[in-house]
Amino acid sequence: MNDPKTPQSLFGPRVRLAPSPTGWFHVGNARTGLFNYLFARKTGGTFVLRVEDTDKERSKKEYEENMLEGLKWLGVEWDEGPEKDGSFGPYHQSDRIEIYKEYLSQLLEEGKAYYCFCTPEELEAQREDMIARGMPPKYSGKCRDLPENTVKEYLAQGKPSVIRLKMPKKVIKFNDIIRGEVEFNLDLIGDTVIAKSLDEPLYNFAVVIDDYLMKITHVIRGEDHISNTPKQIVIQELLGLPTPNYAHLPMILGPDRSKLSSRHGAMGLNEYKKMGYLPEAMNNFLAFLGWHPLGDKEIFNLEELIDKFDLNRVQKGGAIFEIKRLDWFNAQHLKTLSVDQLFDKIGEYIKTFSKTPKILDNYSPEYIKKVIELETPRLTKLSDFLEFSEFFFQENIDYPKEYLKWKTMEEIEIPTSLKDCLAVLEKIPEKEFNKAKIETSFYNFISESYLYKKDKGRLLWPLRVALSGKKASPGPFEIAEILGKEESIKRVNFALSKLNS
Ligand code: GLU
Repeated sequence: MNDPKTPQSLFGPRVRLAPSPTGWFHVGNARTGLFNYLFARKTGGTFVLRVEDTDKERSKKEYEENMLEGLKWLGVEWDEGPEKDGSFGPYHQSDRIEIYKEYLSQLLEEGKAYYCFCTPEELEAQREDMIARGMPPKYSGKCRDLPENTVKEYLAQGKPSVIRLKMPKKVIKFNDIIRGEVEFNLDLIGDTVIAKSLDEPLYNFAVVIDDYLMKITHVIRGEDHISNTPKQIVIQELLGLPTPNYAHLPMILGPDRSKLSSRHGAMGLNEYKKMGYLPEAMNNFLAFLGWHPLGDKEIFNLEELIDKFDLNRVQKGGAIFEIKRLDWFNAQHLKTLSVDQLFDKIGEYIKTFSKTPKILDNYSPEYIKKVIELETPRLTKLSDFLEFSEFFFQENIDYPKEYLKWKTMEEIEIPTSLKDCLAVLEKIPEKEFNKAKIETSFYNFISESYLYKKDKGRLLWPLRVALSGKKASPGPFEIAEILGKEESIKRVNFALSKLNS
């Protein structure tokens, strides 16, 4: 079997992620990247990263950096592209302008493309005319057959122009790995613009040349590009280039089935990292946006995803993005980590993102690991850790004194309960101050009291709040063990003093 981590097989499939750095790297790009990566690793192929930065105004270096950072965070490693040598570069489209120019010139010379000098006003008038005649709007073809001399003259005069493809009147059919046979009538598309000038190719043109020269065998991308595919196939045909295999991934939709947006909780990938999600969980979640392996198992790490991945099992219908599902994946992945792994990840997270990064500095790793062990079952994200367990790391906790009141109690009854707690705690020898011993001591005490036997919350609720300062927390015995005898007693005394104030 192929080692899935072996990069760069000479003969396997070649796939690519071709993002435009015109915005923050988002979940859509990340999902496409992941599917390409899984396919490449599964098949012993090569995963190419190509930066489609021909749009000079909108492309920004910081967006590109954000994209590389996002892929690295996920562990979706590319074999060729920025920061990686490969034999098919350069991997930035902005460095390939001369290459596109050659192919554009060829199409122009062969009369398969032409200069169009129509002004925006003319184009708008043509559009309105077509709509008025009940026809789908497309370019009228006005400049298709301009005499060569006129073209030369206009170009010499510097008349604004674009380059259009002479779209053949025919139906293009292709077999999409996910969607089956797809058909487009080119007549409905019209003479599409493929470049603003010889030096400014547009997406549909540049992508064809790059996919060809980079020997891409499978184009795996979002369904939003399916209407571009016939245009790209025509360009391939006109230049005599081979057509790669296509696989259009289903759209990612919000729970209301509309196009995914920030309204549904979708944001730049980096934000998920900041929110405390694990890359393993993110990959698992993204992989399930449109794909599902055979069987019921749902929690997979990257290696397992590679092993199970099958492009033929990708669904056609839209994939619903639910942040709750990501939370679930994250909580499950957190549970698969050892205390030591969690210790590293939580420490790193707090150092990078917490407003109080020093909070853990005064505590021993053993103490922190005990807290981690206690809190893991309740964690959804790394960020929950401090929120849930801050009270373990604060010398002086504070809270509204009403919190101490159990539902069947009057406020004046609380001091008695707290004093009883103190008496029990004090009797436990320091050396035996562990959960089991604390628990038995309290239950023995409860069994001797009619009032507490009837309602143990009268004793244990004020104790738990005194120790944690929270209405919701793990149980009081676990907390007391970690805090230790001295600190537990100090906190109960503090609660008592609050009631007197
Ligand atoms: N630059 C295009 C995008 O970011 C790439 C589309 C493709 O994969 O062909 O959407």
